[in-house]
Amino acid sequence: MIDEYKDVSLRALNTLGIDARCGRLVEFSDAGDLPEIFARPEIAGGRWAVLGGGSNILFTGDFCGTLLRPVGRAIAIVSDDGVQAVVRAEAGVAWDDFVAWTVGHGLWGAENLSHIPGTVGAAPVQNIGAYGVEAKDIVHSVEMYDAVTGKMVTLPGGHCDFGYRDSVFKRLLKGRVVITAVSFTLSRKARPQLDYGDLRASVEALNYGATLENIRTAVVAIRRSKLPEPSEMGNAGSFFKNPVVPTAVAEKLLAAYPDMPVYPAVGDDRRKLAAGWLIDRCGWKGRSLGRAGVHARQALVLVNLGGATGREILALAEQVAADVRAKFGVELETEVNVW
Ligand code: FAD
Ligand code: NAP
Repeated sequence: MIDEYKDVSLRALNTLGIDARCGRLVEFSDAGDLPEIFARPEIAGGRWAVLGGGSNILFTGDFCGTLLRPVGRAIAIVSDDGVQAVVRAEAGVAWDDFVAWTVGHGLWGAENLSHIPGTVGAAPVQNIGAYGVEAKDIVHSVEMYDAVTGKMVTLPGGHCDFGYRDSVFKRLLKGRVVITAVSFTLSRKARPQLDYGDLRASVEALNYGATLENIRTAVVAIRRSKLPEPSEMGNAGSFFKNPVVPTAVAEKLLAAYPDMPVYPAVGDDRRKLAAGWLIDRCGWKGRSLGRAGVHARQALVLVNLGGATGREILALAEQVAADVRAKFGVELETEVNVW
């Protein structure tokens, strides 16, 4: 099924609630639709991009071109040997519906990633992560249409070049592929991962302890208590990545700010800093610039206070990043895709 709409408002299609428009929106339910879509010169010859749930995009103006939106929502078990199961989900499945499905089927691996907005198709793009688990820990393979060769390709998870909020889809394959389905390796054996913040305490406070359902319940409750719901206040989650810096830089900052959180990072001699803490220390938590604000409970989240344009959100982000640079000498990299 292919559905095409022209001159579409994107306001309800991005969680920041930015009132931008796009020239053409094409929804497709099946990977087999893509050759026909890319055979249309007005699409292949113009600007195009993939839109999932719009929960990690800032529209700074209208999108002059075609947005492709996968809407296929099938989930199926591909193999199951009683120890491990491989589950395939189409790109249009809402990520949290997928997590709920895995929990309902007694499959371990995705539960810490409960309540993250967006779609399955976008999960490998920034290697979504939360509470010590990342998509890379469970991605078995990614199916995609390559707009350059016109062929379907299946990339094993180990070849996706996953990093901290990063993957091959944000680099080499950016603007070239449409992810149509993702398969995940999940475990029938319990493997709770609770060593993150107050997750263990929240789970153990529930009857029966570390069950799949309890971990999901606890993660959802913690997230609801800390993060603004996009339906109530427009936002795109963490606006910046947590900066990863050389250990020497982290130690120098620690000498000046002994209460600064520092975490281990992948890579030799590197440490991860908490961007939210740096922003808070610059006095930005709860402050605003016009109709764009820094959330009062989590300074890493920029919010639309009502009617903000994408440029207003960007101006706030630039001001915040400039203040962090001036105070700490640390560069904040945007996590949200700025279009
Ligand atoms: P979109 O925002 O629509 O797109 C994001 C990028 O992926 C774009 O570049 C787009 O072109 C590309 N893309 C999307 N679908 C496809 C596809 N099928 N094929 C190819 N490219 C595609 N992120 C985390 O990592 N951890 C969190 O805990 C987290 N919490 C959040 C909480 C809130 C309240 C919000 C609003 C966001 C949060 N995010 C989090 C960010 C966001 O939810 C994720 O990045 C999510 O994966 C984005 O999915 P989406 O479908 O909305 O993608
Ligand atoms: P938090 O628990 O208050 O922690 C603040 C920051 O410190 C997080 O960004 C986290 O980094 C880091 N951190 C905390 N404990 C850590 C540990 N044991 N090991 C390594 N790093 C640790 O953060 P929060 O805002 O409530 O978010 C909780 C989780 O949800 C985090 O994993 C966060 O990434 C995720 N989340 C992501 C988004 C997004 O849009 N990307 C939005 C909301 C929540 P990490 O971010 O690297 O984990």
